[in-house]
Amino acid sequence: MSATPLSTASVRAALDDDAAGTTVLTPHDAGYEAARAIEPAGVEWRPAAIVRPTDAAGVARAVRFARDAGAEVSVRAGGHSALGLGRDHGALTIDLRGLDTIEVDAAARTAWAGGGLTAGAYSEAVGSHGLATPFGDTAGVGIGGITLGGGIGLLARSRGLTIDSLLGAEVVTADGEILQVDAEHHPELFWGLRGGGGNFGVVTRFRYALHDLPTVVGGMMLLPATPESVAEVVALAEAAPRELTAILMIMVAPPMPFIPAEWHGKLVMMANVCWSGDPETADTALAPVRDVAARAGGTILDMVRPGPYASLLEGGPQGSIVATAGTFLADRLDMSAAEHLLAQLESSDAMMRAVQVRVLGGAVTDVPADATAFAHRDAGIVGAVMAAGPSADVVEGYRPWVAALTDRLRGRDGAYAAFVADGNPELARTTYPGATWDRLVALKRTYDPHNVFRANLNVPPA
Ligand SMILES: Cc1cc2nc3c(=O)[nH]c(=O)nc-3n(C[C@H](O)[C@H](O)[C@H](O)COP(=O)(O)OP(=O)(O)OC[C@H]3O[C@@H](n4cnc5c(N)ncnc54)[C@H](O)[C@@H]3O)c2cc1C
Repeated sequence: MSATPLSTASVRAALDDDAAGTTVLTPHDAGYEAARAIEPAGVEWRPAAIVRPTDAAGVARAVRFARDAGAEVSVRAGGHSALGLGRDHGALTIDLRGLDTIEVDAAARTAWAGGGLTAGAYSEAVGSHGLATPFGDTAGVGIGGITLGGGIGLLARSRGLTIDSLLGAEVVTADGEILQVDAEHHPELFWGLRGGGGNFGVVTRFRYALHDLPTVVGGMMLLPATPESVAEVVALAEAAPRELTAILMIMVAPPMPFIPAEWHGKLVMMANVCWSGDPETADTALAPVRDVAARAGGTILDMVRPGPYASLLEGGPQGSIVATAGTFLADRLDMSAAEHLLAQLESSDAMMRAVQVRVLGGAVTDVPADATAFAHRDAGIVGAVMAAGPSADVVEGYRPWVAALTDRLRGRDGAYAAFVADGNPELARTTYPGATWDRLVALKRTYDPHNVFRANLNVPPA
C-alpha cells in the first residue's frame, strides 16, 4: 500500500485542539526537531507531522485522520527502535509520551500504565511499593515497544518475559475503535499483542501484574574475556537457579572512566547479573562466576550489591554514536564459538564492537510456546552483535563484519522481534514461524486489513 504524503496544514486543521490537549508539531514548529529525535543515532526520520495526544480519544482521532488521508502512521513510545518510525517522510507519527499516567493497585498487585511511559519511570513508581514488573536492562526503553516485542531482561529467568506479566491493554485499532483487551475480551488480539509488535493498533494503556520484589542483588561484574571464561559463564548462567539471570556483553573495553585504564582496548566480559532470590544466598549463587573470573586472571570490577530492581536499569548509550546490529538465537555458546567471537572482536577496527548474550530458560519456558506470539521460548540464548562508529557512512562499512559474525553465532532459525533492526520481510517470517505467522496474519486481516500500522516489523494482511 503506497502512502499519500500529508500536508502539514491539514494535520493541524484536523487535530490541533487545545481543548483535548493534543498538540501537533510540523517541521515549521520550534519543538519539531527535538520531538523527532530518537535514541538510535543516524536514523533520518522526518514525519510530516508529530501528533501528541494525551488520551485514547486523541489517539483514535489521529488514527482515523491518517487512515482517511491514506497516510502512513508510525507510533513513537520510548523511541529506542531504529525500525518502525516510518521511512515515509509524509507520515504521521503518533507520539505517546503524553500518555504517562500510572495507577498502582498495590493490594491487588496490578498496575495500569500509559503507553508512553519508559521502563525506568514505571519501575521507579511501582518500586516505591516494593513491587516490580520485568522489563529489560535499560531505563529509557519505552514500555510500549518492549512489551509488544516480548521483553527480555534481568528478571527473565525468575519472573518471565514482560508479556508474561501483561494482564490486559487498551488498544486503538486501525478504524479508531477503543478496545479493552485481555484474556476474556478479544483473546486472540491479546495473544497477538504479546510479541506481535505494533501491528494491530496503538496501545494507550497496559495492565501489568506486579511481583513482590523489594530488593534484588545485582549489578555489573567485569571480568577478562577468554574463550574459557566466556563459554563457562554462559554455561553457568544456563545451569544456575532460575533466580539468577545474566546478560553478558563481550567486548573490547572502551576507554570509559569506570574501567581501569590498563584494561582499555582489551577483551572483557561485562556480566550484568540479577539475583532475585533470598538476598542472603546471592553470594553462594554468584560464587561460580567469581571462580571463573579468578581463573581468568581476576575480577576487574564487581559492582554487585543489593538494591531495588529499578536501580539495575541503566541509562543507556551516551552521546550520538551510530550503531549497526545483528541478532541471533542459539541453544548454546561453546568454546569454539567463544574463540571465534573473541578473534573477530579483536580483528575489527570499529570504535565500539560487542557481542551480547542473554541467557533464557527458567520462567521463560514455563509458558507454552503457542500461548503468546513470542514463538522462541525454548531458545537458550538471544544474542546480538553490534558495531558502532561516529557516522552512518563509517558504520555502513561494519555491516559485513556484523552479518558474518551474527551468522556464525546463530544456532537456530528465528529472531527476537524487539532486536530486529531492519524491516526485511524475511526477518518477520523467521521471527514469527509457522502457525504463529498464520495466526498473526489472520489477526491483521481482522484488526488492520489495510495495513495502516505497517511502519514496524510488519505482518501484512495478505
Ligand atoms: C539501548 C537499548 C537497550 C535495549 N534493551 C532491551 C532489553 O533489555 N530487553 C529487550 O527486550 N529489548 C531491549 N531493547 C529493544 C527494545 O525493546 C526495542 O527497541 C523496543 O521496540 C523499544 O521500544 P520503545 O518504545 O523505546 O521504542 P519506539 O521506537 O518508540 O517503539 C518501537 C516500535 O514499537 C511499536 N510501539 C511502541 N509502543 C507502542 C504502543 N504503545 N502501541 C503500539 N505500538 C507501539 C511501534 O511499532 C514502534 O515503532 C533495547 C533497545 C535499546 C536501543
